[in-house]
Amino acid sequence: MEQNFESIIGLEIHVQLNTESKMFCSCPSGARKNLAPNTALCPVCSGQPGALPVLNKKAVELALRAGFGFNAQINKESVFARKNYFYPDLPKGYQISQDDKPIIGKGYIEIKDAQGNTKKIGITRAHLEEDAGKSMHEESDSLVDLNRSGVPLLEIVGEPDLRSPQEAYDYLTNLRALLSWLDVSNCDMEKGELRVDVNVSVRPKGQEKFGTRMEIKNLNSFKAVKDALTYEINRQIAAVKAGETLHQQTMLWDEVKGETKVMRSKETAQEYRYFPEPDLKPLIITEEEIAQVRSSMPMLPSQKREYFEKELGLASYDAGILTKSRQITEYFEKVLSYGVPAKQAANWIGTDLLGALNACGKEIEDSPLPPSEIAALIKFIQEGKISIKMAREIFPKAFNENKKIADLVKSLGQTQINDEAQIEVWAKQAVEANPKAVADYKSGNTKAIGAMVGMVMKLSKGKANPAIINKILVRLMS
Ligand SMILES: [Zn+2]
Repeated sequence: MEQNFESIIGLEIHVQLNTESKMFCSCPSGARKNLAPNTALCPVCSGQPGALPVLNKKAVELALRAGFGFNAQINKESVFARKNYFYPDLPKGYQISQDDKPIIGKGYIEIKDAQGNTKKIGITRAHLEEDAGKSMHEESDSLVDLNRSGVPLLEIVGEPDLRSPQEAYDYLTNLRALLSWLDVSNCDMEKGELRVDVNVSVRPKGQEKFGTRMEIKNLNSFKAVKDALTYEINRQIAAVKAGETLHQQTMLWDEVKGETKVMRSKETAQEYRYFPEPDLKPLIITEEEIAQVRSSMPMLPSQKREYFEKELGLASYDAGILTKSRQITEYFEKVLSYGVPAKQAANWIGTDLLGALNACGKEIEDSPLPPSEIAALIKFIQEGKISIKMAREIFPKAFNENKKIADLVKSLGQTQINDEAQIEVWAKQAVEANPKAVADYKSGNTKAIGAMVGMVMKLSKGKANPAIINKILVRLMS
């Protein structure tokens, strides 16, 4: 980006709440259950006259969980409102949403900025609303599926605190991790469970007044958000520099062409004529309810991360990887429960396991290696039965060929060199070649032995028994 300009970015995000039933009726919240079109319907969610909405308690609880995750103000009284607009997939002619009294007030999410410092990105508000149905266009027919009509959503409106496409990307990544961590939403973008609208403007650095804001829609991935922002920021800067006047517009991102195009001019902005929903009482949340939801909250990813760094002594980078999703954290903690050291577990999971999973497009839930197998591998190394090098050979076999670690170690044992006379020959070479390490070892730095163990391993092509190497080296040096 141009040095003399800065970009101002704010995001509006809709997430589908993880409820069994819809927002105001008992129909299955089935957009993700692949039901046949128009089979999850009742008079309420198909907008029949006289049908009355009943609020879904679970949706309220999930909104509160999100609120705690955002460190946000919880509004003990919020109000549902009718947002009026006319569209074929909205049978009532209005959507029940929340207007000036949302359930969640100001909060924030943390990201790391370009310098690695923690930056708080403000959340303006988050409110409950129902989803509309889905329109589909097939040749000359327009079809409507109302299964999604009435599915609970949380709309999360962010402050314009983001200053680059990368920050927007990081914010989305952290938000998604947090909401899936808390079981608020699955946040699967491909299934429409997380939708992002972007507002972006540019201004010369030092200018206080905001530039003209553009909205971008049709963003199907976090990468699309980043690419669209990069394109749009450059376009706006070029226009401002050329002396053009920008008009507020809604843009669509064309992923194939890699450019934004105008969808509509904001001058004809829609007037939703909000008014309080007469069929629902104001939503009152009691202290007891707040306390109950708060007590059910798991440790947040940021808290877990701090715990891993401070209590387990993990590097910040490793702690970050191990708290990327709750599934990864749970896997790591299960490995630890077998009594193996945290650092080794972090290395094997963070590098080898996640790398292998990534290479075959699998999530950690579908890992062919359960936590017990990773723990077994680390234990064999600790007991000196195998070297790290051997472990690296065993790992892909266990991962790809569905073989047990213990069996692989056993078959490897038949090729392992246990001949002490032979190992001593190599150990002597290693001692002679590393006078400094020997001196360090003798002056009390026991870690200095590592260099010589490594050398013996190399001389034996990774086959010497590590326990015997250690024993002989110690004897040679004392
Ligand atoms: Zn229904």
